[in-house]
Amino acid sequence: MQVSKHVISSVIVSALVWWWLRSSAAALTCFLMGVFIDLDHIIDFLYNSRRQLRLYRFFTAFEFEVLENIFVFLHSWEFALVWLALLLSLPEARQPVVLGLFIGFVTHLGLDNLFNRHSRWAYFLFYRLWHGFAGKYYYGAREYRHRLKRARRRG
Ligand SMILES: [Zn+2]
Repeated sequence: MQVSKHVISSVIVSALVWWWLRSSAAALTCFLMGVFIDLDHIIDFLYNSRRQLRLYRFFTAFEFEVLENIFVFLHSWEFALVWLALLLSLPEARQPVVLGLFIGFVTHLGLDNLFNRHSRWAYFLFYRLWHGFAGKYYYGAREYRHRLKRARRRG
C-alpha cells in the first residue's frame, strides 16, 4: 500500500488508540510503527539496486516493477503472532506504548495484506524463506505475470 495511505490510516488508528488508552505515547508509537515499518523496503531496494534500480524509482519500484528478490523482513505475521502470545501471557508487557506499537504493526500488515495484490501468503516470513525470497512467489502467479507483461511493454 502507498505511504500516503499508510499515513492516513495510521492517523485514524492512532486517534482510536489515544481514545482507548488516553496515552499520547501509545498513539505516537502506533502512528510511527504504522508508517515506518515500510523502512524494511530499503533492504530490498539496495539488494535489487544491483540490477539497475534507480533511487528516483524507489517508491514506484515496489508497486509496479518486478523485483527478483523480496525480503521485507518486518512484514511478517509470525512476529505479530509471537508478539500477541507475549501480550497474552505477560500482563506486565501490556504497557500503552507496547500496545500502540503492536496495533500499528498489525494494522499496517493487515492493510498491506488486504490491498496489495500479492500472494495471500506473501506476508509470512516462512513462506518467503521457503521460496528463497523470490519475488515471483511473493507477488503470486497472477500479479507476477501482470508485472512482467507491463515491464516488457515499457521495454
Ligand atoms: Zn508495508
